[in-house]
Amino acid sequence: MKEHRTKLLIIGSGPAGYTAAIYAARANLNPIQVLGIQPGGQLMITTDVENYPGFADAIQGPWLMEQMLAQAQHVGVKTVEDMIVRADFSRRPFVCEGESGELYIADAVIVCTGAQAKWLGLESEEKYRGYGVSGCAVCDGFFFKDKEVAITGGGNTAVEEALYLANHASKVTLIHRRDQLRAEKVLQDRLFENPKVQIIWNSVIEEILGDEEPFKTVTGVRLRDTQTGERKVLAASGVFVAIGHKPMTELFKGQIDLDEHGYILCKPGTTLTNVPGVFAAGDVQDSVYRQAVTAAGQGCMAALDAQRYFAENPPSYSRIA
Ligand code: NAP
Repeated sequence: MKEHRTKLLIIGSGPAGYTAAIYAARANLNPIQVLGIQPGGQLMITTDVENYPGFADAIQGPWLMEQMLAQAQHVGVKTVEDMIVRADFSRRPFVCEGESGELYIADAVIVCTGAQAKWLGLESEEKYRGYGVSGCAVCDGFFFKDKEVAITGGGNTAVEEALYLANHASKVTLIHRRDQLRAEKVLQDRLFENPKVQIIWNSVIEEILGDEEPFKTVTGVRLRDTQTGERKVLAASGVFVAIGHKPMTELFKGQIDLDEHGYILCKPGTTLTNVPGVFAAGDVQDSVYRQAVTAAGQGCMAALDAQRYFAENPPSYSRIA
């Protein structure tokens, strides 16, 4: 069985993973980065990106991630197309196993496996994703200036995003499957007071409606009342799905501390997990900010935290190419 030995293993390839890898390579930590099942992460399913600093014109999410990959490789990161399926942080050096069956043996690990937005699971949602259906109001709200939009969900994310959308859209309709929100009271109060927001209770989106010509665009949603079964159509140019995120931490259960939603717990203000030598950065440990730029910042922090760790715990392995 092939073994990769490294001082530092980076798991994941969103903005957090690439930034950690770039900083670590430039600090001579010779990192190996295992890219995962969807190299590039959530930005690979995003179209226009207008809020990543440094680009005056909109860029495409997949292009940005290609650039990050190329930058990592230019500075000497060894990138591997594999998916870590098992991790053992109970012994040192740490041992992780790839789907390929190959082993990754590392003195330190930075976990950047990200999170996935939960989707409703409708065929029409898939069809119009990126064409009016979005999982991120901060990313895409701007495109709906003075238009009517709908958002579904009842947690903090949905309410915060509805309030954010109200800054751009002419009208925001929040659709929730029950008759009360689970968001914090203070957010609920702000939502109820906002004149641009209307709420449709006890309803679910059954279908996203749209046009194909002259270009693919969303025109509304078909709703079903969960109490009466009654159906109605709501006009909307944009539909935001904010029903939660799932951090990709299944394989770390029992290895490092996670919160009740599965996010990795880090020492506040750092990327340190409860296991010395294991760090976490990006959406896998951040349920609040969840932006490409904040993930990149945390990736940088993780590489710096790893350097500090090695200053006190000299590495036992160096990479065998
Ligand atoms: P969440 O709290 O899990 O809420 C998900 C919402 O989506 C719930 O209201 C749920 O309805 C609804 N939902 C789930 N599946 C659905 C489906 N298939 N169809 C329709 N509705 C569905 O998720 P979140 O709002 O993303 O928050 C996740 C975590 O991050 C929470 O701990 C939250 O407090 C935290 N967060 C904090 C902040 C902040 O502190 N500023 C901001 C954002 C998020 P039900 O209510 O009926 O279950």
